[in-house]
Amino acid sequence: MSADFLPYGRQSVVEEDIEAVAEVLRGDWLTTGPGVKRFEEGLAEYTGGTPTVAVTSGTAALHVAYYAAGIEPGDEVVTSPMTFVATAATASLLGAKIVFADVEEDTANLDVAAAKAAMTSRTKVVAAVDYAGHPAELGQLHDLAHEAGALLLEDAAHSVGGSWQGRPVGSIADLTTFSFFPTKNLTTAEGGAVAATSDELLRRAFSFRNHGLVRDKSAQRFPDEGAWHQEVHEFGLNYRLPDVLCALGISQLRRLTAFKLRRAEIHARYNAALADVDGVRTPVTRPGADPMWHLYPLRVLGGRRHAMFDHLRAAGIGVQVNYIPVYWHPVFADLGYRRGMCPNAEAFYAEEISLPLFPSMTDDDVDRVVDAIRTFAG
Ligand SMILES: *Cc1c(COP(=O)(O)O)cnc(C)c1O
Repeated sequence: MSADFLPYGRQSVVEEDIEAVAEVLRGDWLTTGPGVKRFEEGLAEYTGGTPTVAVTSGTAALHVAYYAAGIEPGDEVVTSPMTFVATAATASLLGAKIVFADVEEDTANLDVAAAKAAMTSRTKVVAAVDYAGHPAELGQLHDLAHEAGALLLEDAAHSVGGSWQGRPVGSIADLTTFSFFPTKNLTTAEGGAVAATSDELLRRAFSFRNHGLVRDKSAQRFPDEGAWHQEVHEFGLNYRLPDVLCALGISQLRRLTAFKLRRAEIHARYNAALADVDGVRTPVTRPGADPMWHLYPLRVLGGRRHAMFDHLRAAGIGVQVNYIPVYWHPVFADLGYRRGMCPNAEAFYAEEISLPLFPSMTDDDVDRVVDAIRTFAG
């Protein structure tokens, strides 16, 4: 797609995917059918066998996960400000107080010491984000949360298919959430999922996805009402991912490993080509990390990020900035959150620019981006 606009991310959809969706459209089950479980089981092959619950978006997945964790008004959630607003917004909607802890200077992932310092007796969840697809310090964060009687939630919207110290993303945190938005690593158009490592968390996630409906007679209060009967014990929502979209997901999962390899190749090509360019800093990979690179976060030094962004956009290169620190959003500012509270996140934001990265990019596309950066830097 050389001469045209190069987006920062885009889906990879092939005829096989289209066929899979069309087949479901011709069948009996557009939603609530057998394709949902098939997608959940297929996804679990990439979470080390941890069971998953398919939902309508990554945002719904976070809402479901915080509900499953039992978040209520008065609870605190310690999280990273270097993420999409949904990581915090969904916990806020359940009444939690969000406590932002700063990120590591190099990876922009939640810093263990900062998270520890932010915890109180009211902390119910520590929510880490695998920024750009590089897993957070999941082992240490898991222990930190559990020592305080809290749970670890991992927002893995960027990192499905990645692993940390040999363990797949989805198998470490108590609750792991995924997004299948088109720019992410695999897509169902809109969609998401929650992986849960305990039966009780899994049950609560299934319940919230489907109105809290109880169909199992042995669990019902009025089991003799009739064969039609189902009852609600706790409120929930309709966050069901339809079979039509699960079919796309099942088909995409077959190429997840190929997506990961191509993303890693592009990432490595950028790293090699940009290593000796003055005024930029390339991303790190920590020992133990096997990232699923969703973003290529380049750092532009010397206060030139904004100018670089405009230069690349003018050249038809669809760069992005991920993310403004979440507490800069007016909704948090209005609640009294002040700028300056997480200096590493703010410094990272001031330098960050996400270069185009998606599996169907050619090497020529990558070189075109590199050339445009060199033109600016030189
Ligand atoms: C994309 C994303 C979400 C939200 O996912 P949607 O599917 O767009 O609702 C949440 N957290 C992070 C880190 C994301 O990148």
